[in-house]
Amino acid sequence: MSDCIFCKIINKELPADIIYEDDCMVVFKDIQPKAPVHVLVVPKKHIVSLAKLNSADQDVIAQMMMNLSAIAEKVGLSDGFRTIINTGKGGGQEVDHLHVHLIGGRPLPGF
Ligand code: AMP
Ligand code: ZN
Repeated sequence: MSDCIFCKIINKELPADIIYEDDCMVVFKDIQPKAPVHVLVVPKKHIVSLAKLNSADQDVIAQMMMNLSAIAEKVGLSDGFRTIINTGKGGGQEVDHLHVHLIGGRPLPGF
């Protein structure tokens, strides 16, 4: 989508600190980290949110989820990590391109 900042990062039209990329997803550092490690796992396909998934998105979602622990290892979170997916206005989603926050590197309070 042309006016989506995450699509622009994926298309290299906007800079980002990309730490991993494959055919399905891009992983880059959050610009306003909430913990020592805070990266965003973002599908290359412009999926708006978890609330807008359709059956054609199954493989992308599976590939992202199956890769999370390897990505966590890559960013130094071998001891464990937190994932957050904000969905819609009520869920605090600010960027309307599905993304998984992968967070860690300090003790995280229980939720
Ligand atoms: P959410 O509220 O779940 O939509 O989260 C959006 C996240 O994207 C926030 O944590 C922002 O700090 C982050 N963000 C916004 N713009 C950029 C950018 N250009 N590069 C990296 N992270 C960004
Ligand atoms: Zn997008």
